[in-house]
Amino acid sequence: MTPAPFPCPGCGDHRTPVQETRPTGRANAMLVRRRRCAGCDWSFNTYEILGHDLKRLTRGLRFLARVQALLCQAPTPPGGAAEPEAEEP
Ligand SMILES: [Zn+2]
Repeated sequence: MTPAPFPCPGCGDHRTPVQETRPTGRANAMLVRRRRCAGCDWSFNTYEILGHDLKRLTRGLRFLARVQALLCQAPTPPGGAAEPEAEEP
């Protein structure tokens, strides 16, 4: 079975045959396809992942985005970042 055509990110040509396919990721759950554009000769990679794994990945990315947003909203202490206090003799 031939992988579906994928438009070239450079020129939009759909003649991007696969040059190489190899498994990658945890338990080889993802495929990396090396493609070359017949229009502009650009080589690029596409990644194929199971929908189940993509959902997990998307949930993880959403969680990280929420954490990043919370960290950006965190109040800064007066005078900037906390510095170690000098000990009194
Ligand atoms: Zn192209």
